[in-house]
Amino acid sequence: MFYVDAHCHIEDKAFNKNRDEVVERAKKENVIIVTSGASLGGCLRALEFKKKYGIYLTLGYHPSRVKADDKVVNKVYNIIRNNKDEILAVGEIGMDIKDENYERQEEIFKKFLTLAEELDKPIVVHARGFEEKIFEIAKDKVEIMFHCYSGDIELAKKIGEEGGLISISTLICFSEHHKKLVDSLDLEYLTTETDSPYLSPIKGAKNEPRNVKLVVEEIAKIKEMDVEEVKNTIYKNTCRFFRRRL
Ligand SMILES: [Zn+2]
Repeated sequence: MFYVDAHCHIEDKAFNKNRDEVVERAKKENVIIVTSGASLGGCLRALEFKKKYGIYLTLGYHPSRVKADDKVVNKVYNIIRNNKDEILAVGEIGMDIKDENYERQEEIFKKFLTLAEELDKPIVVHARGFEEKIFEIAKDKVEIMFHCYSGDIELAKKIGEEGGLISISTLICFSEHHKKLVDSLDLEYLTTETDSPYLSPIKGAKNEPRNVKLVVEEIAKIKEMDVEEVKNTIYKNTCRFFRRRL
């Protein structure tokens, strides 16, 4: 059975020097990689690496890129539309409270949400500080995976009940909030991710998809379950969400 890294950035330039090895190491450990294009250049590179490595793909536009003009946003929009058969979902898209211009963030988010509806795809969201808002806007339209969810437990339960997924990242290795979240939530509501090259659980090292094993092990410890059982359930949850066998 497979581990699932449901959200990472293999196309990130941080992997330019050792991308082949990083993917190889993940494959050796049976880690399924879902890479997430999050900018114009990132989406183009992600498409290229999907083909090169046989990994899975989501394409979107990160809320931190709020300053870009419509030309850039529209290019990404068209790339997604023209590659709908290549992607599992639209994302990452969303809003971030630490970035500026919330109105523009919301406008761009809604544009990609409408595209996801049109393409009949689920979405993967980055919703720091806007978890409730994003859920309210999108819940009746598409299924939502909350990448690196850091909101409260009550909302996480509602998300799970609506068929969404809470993605637990490598932050769980040192965050009490994330441990509590896992403790309070049904395993059926969860998936796992590394957000590589970010959120490294190992000091001084870049994060990479094979580290998703650490997330699964941590969940197993908290839930007092078998690692294999957790791994299998996460795999099933993620396939259900993306509506296909990975
Ligand atoms: Zn990300």
